[in-house]
Amino acid sequence: MTFAPDTVQSLHSAIALVNTAEPREALFSLEDLDRFHADYGYTGRYDRTTDELNAVRELRPRLRGLLTSTRDETVRLANRVFRETKAVPQLVRHGSFDWHIHAVEPNAPLTRRLLVETAMAVADVVRGNELDRLRICAAGDCQRLVLDLSRNHSRRFCSTTCGSRVGVAAYRERQRRNPAK
Ligand SMILES: [Zn+2]
Ligand SMILES: [Zn+2]
Repeated sequence: MTFAPDTVQSLHSAIALVNTAEPREALFSLEDLDRFHADYGYTGRYDRTTDELNAVRELRPRLRGLLTSTRDETVRLANRVFRETKAVPQLVRHGSFDWHIHAVEPNAPLTRRLLVETAMAVADVVRGNELDRLRICAAGDCQRLVLDLSRNHSRRFCSTTCGSRVGVAAYRERQRRNPAK
Protein backbone atom coordinates (compact mmCIF):
# COMPACT_ATOMS: atom_id res chain seq x y z
CA MET A 1 0.00 0.00 0.00
CA THR A 2 1.42 3.37 -1.01
CA PHE A 3 0.05 6.55 0.50
CA ALA A 4 -0.35 9.77 -1.47
CA PRO A 5 2.67 12.07 -1.05
CA ASP A 6 0.65 14.67 0.87
CA THR A 7 -0.56 11.98 3.27
CA VAL A 8 3.00 10.91 3.99
CA GLN A 9 4.08 14.54 4.36
CA SER A 10 1.24 15.28 6.80
CA LEU A 11 1.97 12.17 8.86
CA HIS A 12 5.67 13.03 9.05
CA SER A 13 4.99 16.59 10.15
CA ALA A 14 2.26 15.65 12.66
CA ILE A 15 4.55 13.02 14.20
CA ALA A 16 7.48 15.45 14.30
CA LEU A 17 5.26 17.97 16.07
CA VAL A 18 3.87 15.46 18.58
CA ASN A 19 7.41 14.23 19.24
CA THR A 20 8.53 17.74 20.26
CA ALA A 21 6.77 16.96 23.57
CA GLU A 22 8.86 13.81 24.17
CA PRO A 23 10.95 12.98 26.07
CA ARG A 24 11.01 16.64 27.16
CA GLU A 25 9.63 19.87 25.74
CA ALA A 26 11.49 20.90 22.56
CA LEU A 27 9.06 23.54 21.30
CA PHE A 28 10.03 26.51 23.43
CA SER A 29 10.36 29.54 21.24
CA LEU A 30 9.08 31.17 18.10
CA GLU A 31 12.40 30.16 16.52
CA ASP A 32 11.56 26.52 17.27
CA LEU A 33 8.16 27.05 15.66
CA ASP A 34 9.81 28.76 12.66
CA ARG A 35 12.03 25.73 12.17
CA PHE A 36 9.10 23.30 12.26
CA HIS A 37 7.08 25.56 9.95
CA ALA A 38 9.93 25.83 7.43
CA ASP A 39 11.08 22.20 7.63
CA TYR A 40 7.62 20.95 6.68
CA GLY A 41 6.92 23.61 4.06
CA TYR A 42 3.75 25.07 5.55
CA THR A 43 1.98 27.72 3.53
CA GLY A 44 -0.94 29.95 4.49
CA ARG A 45 -1.45 32.05 7.55
CA TYR A 46 1.36 32.12 10.10
CA ASP A 47 0.93 34.66 12.91
CA ARG A 48 4.20 33.84 14.64
CA THR A 49 2.91 34.98 18.02
CA THR A 50 3.26 33.52 21.50
CA ASP A 51 -0.48 32.74 21.42
CA GLU A 52 0.01 30.71 18.27
CA LEU A 53 3.03 28.92 19.75
CA ASN A 54 0.95 28.02 22.82
CA ALA A 55 -1.97 26.88 20.68
CA VAL A 56 0.33 24.62 18.65
CA ARG A 57 1.78 23.13 21.83
CA GLU A 58 -1.70 22.55 23.24
CA LEU A 59 -2.82 20.89 20.01
CA ARG A 60 -0.26 18.09 20.31
CA PRO A 61 -2.29 15.76 22.58
CA ARG A 62 -5.21 15.90 20.13
CA LEU A 63 -2.90 15.08 17.21
CA ARG A 64 -1.41 12.27 19.27
CA GLY A 65 -4.92 10.89 19.79
CA LEU A 66 -5.56 10.95 16.06
CA LEU A 67 -2.29 9.11 15.42
CA THR A 68 -2.42 6.42 18.11
CA SER A 69 -6.03 5.34 18.61
CA THR A 70 -7.86 2.16 17.61
CA ARG A 71 -9.49 2.17 14.19
CA ASP A 72 -12.99 2.92 15.50
CA GLU A 73 -11.74 5.66 17.79
CA THR A 74 -9.61 7.20 15.02
CA VAL A 75 -12.69 7.34 12.79
CA ARG A 76 -14.66 9.06 15.53
CA LEU A 77 -11.88 11.59 16.21
CA ALA A 78 -11.28 12.36 12.52
CA ASN A 79 -14.98 12.80 11.80
CA ARG A 80 -15.24 15.16 14.74
CA VAL A 81 -12.41 17.28 13.27
CA PHE A 82 -14.14 17.40 9.87
CA ARG A 83 -17.47 18.41 11.43
CA GLU A 84 -15.95 20.95 13.80
CA THR A 85 -13.79 22.67 11.18
CA LYS A 86 -16.25 22.29 8.29
CA ALA A 87 -13.32 21.03 6.21
CA VAL A 88 -13.76 21.48 2.45
CA PRO A 89 -11.19 19.43 0.53
CA GLN A 90 -9.78 21.24 -2.49
CA LEU A 91 -7.12 20.02 -4.89
CA VAL A 92 -4.37 22.63 -5.14
CA ARG A 93 -0.92 22.96 -6.66
CA HIS A 94 1.69 25.49 -5.56
CA GLY A 95 5.46 25.98 -5.61
CA SER A 96 7.20 22.64 -6.03
CA PHE A 97 4.19 20.69 -4.72
CA ASP A 98 2.13 18.89 -7.34
CA TRP A 99 -1.63 18.36 -6.89
CA HIS A 100 -2.55 17.71 -3.28
CA ILE A 101 -5.43 18.48 -0.96
CA HIS A 102 -5.93 21.53 1.22
CA ALA A 103 -9.06 21.39 3.34
CA VAL A 104 -8.84 24.76 5.08
CA GLU A 105 -8.71 28.32 3.71
CA PRO A 106 -5.22 29.87 3.48
CA ASN A 107 -6.21 32.42 6.15
CA ALA A 108 -7.30 29.76 8.66
CA PRO A 109 -5.16 29.61 11.81
CA LEU A 110 -2.12 27.33 11.69
CA THR A 111 -3.56 25.06 14.39
CA ARG A 112 -6.68 24.43 12.33
CA ARG A 113 -4.53 23.59 9.31
CA LEU A 114 -2.42 21.17 11.38
CA LEU A 115 -5.52 19.54 12.84
CA VAL A 116 -7.36 19.14 9.53
CA GLU A 117 -4.29 17.91 7.65
CA THR A 118 -3.60 15.31 10.30
CA ALA A 119 -7.23 14.16 10.24
CA MET A 120 -7.17 13.98 6.42
CA ALA A 121 -3.97 11.93 6.53
CA VAL A 122 -5.25 9.45 9.12
CA ALA A 123 -8.51 9.15 7.16
CA ASP A 124 -6.36 7.92 4.29
CA VAL A 125 -4.57 5.46 6.59
CA VAL A 126 -7.88 4.22 8.01
CA ARG A 127 -9.27 3.60 4.51
CA GLY A 128 -6.17 1.60 3.58
CA ASN A 129 -6.47 -0.32 6.89
CA GLU A 130 -2.85 0.57 7.61
CA LEU A 131 -3.10 2.06 11.09
CA ASP A 132 -0.42 -0.33 12.31
CA ARG A 133 2.00 1.90 10.37
CA LEU A 134 1.56 4.37 13.22
CA ARG A 135 2.96 3.25 16.53
CA ILE A 136 4.68 4.24 19.71
CA CYS A 137 8.42 3.58 19.85
CA ALA A 138 9.15 0.03 21.05
CA ALA A 139 11.75 1.23 23.55
CA GLY A 140 9.85 0.80 26.82
CA ASP A 141 10.74 4.21 28.21
CA CYS A 142 10.10 6.17 25.00
CA GLN A 143 6.75 7.74 24.13
CA ARG A 144 7.75 9.11 20.74
CA LEU A 145 5.69 8.15 17.69
CA VAL A 146 7.01 6.16 14.74
CA LEU A 147 5.81 6.14 11.14
CA ASP A 148 6.69 2.77 9.68
CA LEU A 149 6.76 2.98 5.89
CA SER A 150 9.01 -0.06 5.51
CA ARG A 151 7.94 -2.76 3.09
CA ASN A 152 7.92 -5.50 5.73
CA HIS A 153 6.44 -3.46 8.63
CA SER A 154 9.72 -3.74 10.51
CA ARG A 155 10.36 -0.26 11.89
CA ARG A 156 9.88 -0.35 15.65
CA PHE A 157 11.97 2.48 17.03
CA CYS A 158 11.71 6.26 16.69
CA SER A 159 15.47 6.55 16.20
CA THR A 160 18.66 4.54 15.92
CA THR A 161 19.43 5.78 19.46
CA CYS A 162 16.38 3.94 20.85
CA GLY A 163 17.07 0.90 18.66
CA SER A 164 20.65 0.47 19.81
CA ARG A 165 19.79 1.24 23.46
CA VAL A 166 17.25 -1.61 23.44
CA GLY A 167 19.71 -3.85 21.56
CA VAL A 168 22.39 -3.29 24.19
CA ALA A 169 19.93 -3.91 27.05
CA ALA A 170 18.77 -7.19 25.45
CA TYR A 171 22.38 -8.29 24.99
CA ARG A 172 23.18 -7.56 28.65
CA GLU A 173 20.07 -9.47 29.72
CA ARG A 174 21.18 -12.53 27.70
CA GLN A 175 24.67 -12.25 29.22
CA ARG A 176 23.18 -12.10 32.72
CA ARG A 177 21.04 -15.20 32.17
CA ASN A 178 23.76 -17.19 30.44
CA PRO A 179 27.03 -15.89 31.85
CA ALA A 180 28.96 -18.89 30.53
CA LYS A 181 28.14 -18.17 26.90
ZN1 LIG B 1 -0.12 22.83 -0.09
ZN1 LIG C 1 12.20 5.99 20.86
